[in-house]
Formats: sequence, C-alpha cells, structure tokens
Amino acid sequence: MKGTMRAAVFEAVKKISIKEVPIPQINDDQVLIKVEYTGICGTDWSIYTGKYSAENLPMIAGHEFSGTVAEAGANVIGLKVGDRVTADINIGCGHCYYCKKGETLLCPEFKQLGIHMDGTFAEYVAASWKLCHHIPENMSLLQGAFIEPTSCVIHSLKAMNFPVGSSVAILGSGLGSLHAAAAKTRGAAPVMVIGRNRDRLRIAEEMGADITICLEDYPDPVARVKELTGGRGADCVVEAVGNPKTYEQAMEMLRPGGVLAAFGICGPDDILPLKMADFVLSEKKISSSCAGYGEDWTDSITLLSNGRIKPEPLFSKIMPLERLEEALIMLQENRDLIKIFISPIAGTKEQDL
Ligand SMILES: [Zn+2]
Ligand SMILES: [Zn+2]
Repeated sequence: MKGTMRAAVFEAVKKISIKEVPIPQINDDQVLIKVEYTGICGTDWSIYTGKYSAENLPMIAGHEFSGTVAEAGANVIGLKVGDRVTADINIGCGHCYYCKKGETLLCPEFKQLGIHMDGTFAEYVAASWKLCHHIPENMSLLQGAFIEPTSCVIHSLKAMNFPVGSSVAILGSGLGSLHAAAAKTRGAAPVMVIGRNRDRLRIAEEMGADITICLEDYPDPVARVKELTGGRGADCVVEAVGNPKTYEQAMEMLRPGGVLAAFGICGPDDILPLKMADFVLSEKKISSSCAGYGEDWTDSITLLSNGRIKPEPLFSKIMPLERLEEALIMLQENRDLIKIFISPIAGTKEQDL
C-alpha cells in the first residue's frame, strides 16, 4: 500500500512526535495489518524514559496489538484482507542453535516488534504471515490486543510446572492479577496476591485470587504467607514487581523445594543476595521467563476465547493515538489505571472501560 500513515515516533528520551511517516512496505512473506488497538505496557514506559532499547530510537513503539489484514504478500497462506489478527512479536534469526531448538527468545539476534523495531503505535504495521494469529470470532479486538501479555504470563506459568493443588503467592497486583487467573487454570490453591493498592487487590479477587494481602494491613507479607500455608511458605511464588526487595521477600516466602517464578524485570545492576548453603539445602528453584512465544500465543488465545481467563477487570481506558504520551504519564501517576489501549483509528475518543 502506498502513502503515509499517522504514527507515534519515540524520537528520543521523553520525546514522542505524532507524525506522518511512510506506510511500511511488505515483502512477499508479510502482511500489512491495519492496527485497531495497542495496549500500553511497562516496556513502553521503559523505552520512553530511555531505560530500555534507547539505542533503537527513533522508533515506533507498541507491541500488544490487534487489527485487520489490509494487504497480503504473494507467499501468504491462510490470511486474507479483512481477517482479524494479532502477531507474535518475537523474531529470531531462524538458523542459530537456539532457534533450531525452538528457543527463539534466546537467539543472539532476537528482536521484538515494537521494542527493537517499529511497532504498532501507528495506523499500520508489517508482520511475517507465519507469526500472525487469527483472533477468534468470539473474542473482541480489545481481548485480541491482550493476547501478548497473557502469553507472557502463560510462559511463566509453564516454566513453574507446578502440580494441581499447589499454593501460589504472587507479589504485584498489576499483571499479578493475570498471573492469579492463569494459576487458577492449572489448579492452584490457594492463590494469594500481595499488593498495596486496595482497588487493584479487588480486581485481583475478581480475576480469581482466593486471598489478597494488602501491605497496609500486613507490612510483613512473608509472615502472612507463611501463616496461610501451615508455616511452610508457598509452593510457588511469582515476583511480578521487578524490585530486589520483593525478590528477597519472594525467596523467603517460598517453601523448601518450591519454585520462584522470576517475572518482574529489575535494573541491570540489581542483585538478589542468596545464602548459598541455605539455597542448596532448601532445594528451592528459580525459573525465569522473559516473554511468551510460539505455542504460548496459541494457548493464550485458547484460554481467552474459552473464558478461562477473563481479562476485562484489567481494562481501564481507550485513548486516541494523539494522546499516547499523556496516557503513558497517566499510568505512572494514577495507580488505579492498569491497561490503557491506544487506537489510531480517526475519531477515537477517550473512553472508560
Ligand atoms: Zn508488553
Ligand atoms: Zn537465532
């Protein structure tokens, strides 16, 4: 497709311009997708503030998206103009040791759409047809834009690999609520979510948490989790904050033999102090996960389209592309907001969800 499109270009640290740029030109193996919604993620804030991917600026960020196929390359199979889609954002080189093993996320050439290359805070985006996923009829395009974060949580859930009836404590009440919903699909009980904001904890309960622990009531969440688990600690703990202090608490509230899912991203120099003798003798395990890819996307669609994960309580607002920068700042200042969706469709008005 020829012509220009409106895009939010992250020009430099804390500088976004809404401007006309050329519509991406697709090759024979790509589709052009007309973007409908893009959810704002913590990663977008990190790019905006220069904490992450600064070397790739100027760039159009945005990676949690849904849209419709606007144009399909000559080699594309199974996708036609008008189809509702999203695309796996994880791109490996395809021929290294990791890619051959199906471990795309570990590829030395690994890139993510909207994080290391132009993404979806724009009217159009190009994507390889092989990475596209149809959004089922019974899913809304807002849910479609939530397939990516759900795939990340599912990836972390699979890495923990816990049996039915395991207790799971989750530190963090943003995406932590999504971890709670996912843990329930695997038969976890009880699922405990720890956070500070009471509104967020109410949402965690709506999403499936059996018990919420408000830090105002329980300044020592380690003691509280132990109290709720016969003094042992939880079978699994998810750190979904990204803070060395909460990582320490996570290790302490984990029972011997349990698994810590490392999900929250800390600063590059942050360290988790481990007493090695205690770590060895306790047989605690740490499973880290950095994104969802491949089958995690299929599984995310399955759980969302069958209503096993109902994400709507996390949806806060829709805002027009022109107000992206304002929306990014709002998310930092107002902790009641969790997920804001940006739409580039002309005439989009701010709407509470
Ligand atoms: Zn994201
Ligand atoms: Zn590779």
